[in-house]
Amino acid sequence: NLYSLLLKPGAPSDARVALRTDMPTDTGRAWTYADLRWTAGRMAQVLHEAGVGPGNRVAVQVAKSPEAVCLYLAVLQLGAIYLPLNTAYTLTELRYFLDDAEPTVFVAQTPIVGDLVPPAGCRTFTLDPDGEGSLTAACRGRPPRERVAEVEPDAVAAILYTSGTTGRPKGAMISHGNLAFGTRTLNALWGISEADVLLHALPIFHAHGLFIALNSMLYAGASSVFLPKFTADAVIGHLPHSTVFMGVPTLYTRLLADPRLDRERCGTMRLFTCGSAPLSREIFEAFEARTGHRILERYGMTETTIIASNPLGGERLPGTVGYPLPGLEVRIVDAAGQPQPAGTVGGLELRGPNVFKGYWRMPEKTAAEFRPDGFFMTGDLARAAPDGRLTLVSRAKEIIISGGYNVYPREVENVLNRIEGVGETAVFGVPHPDFGEGVVAAVERQPGCLSLDPASILARAARELAGYKLPKAVIVQDALPRNAMGKILKNELSALHKDVFRKRDATG
Ligand code: ATP
Ligand code: MG
Repeated sequence: NLYSLLLKPGAPSDARVALRTDMPTDTGRAWTYADLRWTAGRMAQVLHEAGVGPGNRVAVQVAKSPEAVCLYLAVLQLGAIYLPLNTAYTLTELRYFLDDAEPTVFVAQTPIVGDLVPPAGCRTFTLDPDGEGSLTAACRGRPPRERVAEVEPDAVAAILYTSGTTGRPKGAMISHGNLAFGTRTLNALWGISEADVLLHALPIFHAHGLFIALNSMLYAGASSVFLPKFTADAVIGHLPHSTVFMGVPTLYTRLLADPRLDRERCGTMRLFTCGSAPLSREIFEAFEARTGHRILERYGMTETTIIASNPLGGERLPGTVGYPLPGLEVRIVDAAGQPQPAGTVGGLELRGPNVFKGYWRMPEKTAAEFRPDGFFMTGDLARAAPDGRLTLVSRAKEIIISGGYNVYPREVENVLNRIEGVGETAVFGVPHPDFGEGVVAAVERQPGCLSLDPASILARAARELAGYKLPKAVIVQDALPRNAMGKILKNELSALHKDVFRKRDATG
């Protein structure tokens, strides 16, 4: 049971601080490992009495807090399945996920106002201390449950919905064995120890914040400064007493926009990591110039947790995601599934102890993403250097076919990112009357930049890109649409701009 890896009983780890909060209502409270076990045990007891046992789902949509961490641990302790939901989901979305998950228990932060009818047989709790159905209130006076359910390594520990970047989120079933492998491997790779203090600014309903950030710290007996959400202000304030920060590109962009980010503030920091979306060379270099730290980029998916990482000790190369984790088999294949030599772009597939157990209630979808020999098709296109170092090229779904030519959006984005005044960029395809698809670029204006017009962007890009790769429309915006993980929603952009070429024709 993963629970026993994350909370090891007894001294001296019990007395160590696991989480330090900085929440408005709870200023600076420290939660030791013993505190976590105590509260998790009480929650486990209440959930057990509510009928939760091995294999049952416990769906949660709660704010990020130490209590939420206890709830996660309580569900693991019972051998049940933790199913966290994005806090941004509306009631309509929530209803879809609850119907899909059929949980035994649903935990919301506060009583649901509105006509959400949980599925039959599902009991609802809230995490807030007071009010009807409060799990916290139900715990008071209860002795903590001590028994930790025994589970097989293959038993599902959590169902995490993917980010929904390319369509409706899919529920990835992740096992105790998957997570135990991932946590052990990552801790060895990144040298995480009980001396570390993680500045935890990611949401915990996603694999990055929950499995990579939180599990690693608990496993090591380290402590985390637990920020309810990312603000550059809070992160910069806590940097001087932290050692590790895990972010996504957008968080780095926002940190760089704050003039207080400097070497001195990063004096105790030993590691900045980045994943979930491509980190541009511009952000990498700007961050190194300001702080002296080379961001360690890594690559993973909800379905596999972490797949590859730049080295802690060796060279961190911007634009690459480093080497596959030890213990994984990774291959690059052509459309027919044939392995390709180093340097060739192809589909990235992998097999190993971190690969999930399939999509919840989607057997066909699951079957379609696995090869007969057990390799999982990530849907990402990559190339491997002769020494195995991986460079992600695109998502297969995002390739644009314009006039019969393949355009990799990321190649165009890399060029646009270098133009002065340009912030993050998103390149995507929309229907075009002559070319099938036309390349469109949505470009974020850097704060303070006044003169950024499509014509000058195109003129600059034309020096470096062949004509068929050159955007046929450039849209300059103050901010691009992003999801909770900071991923740019290209789906949304291409839907929004699907008529740019048609309109142009109509108006001549
Ligand atoms: P969905 O599967 O629902 O469309 P998603 O793929 O964005 O959404 P996640 O599992 O959160 O959901 O994200 C995994 C994907 O994120 C990877 O397949 C890859 O495309 C992208 N990704 C992760 N890390 C990196 C990275 N370092 N560089 C580029 N892309 C990355
Ligand atoms: Mg995906």
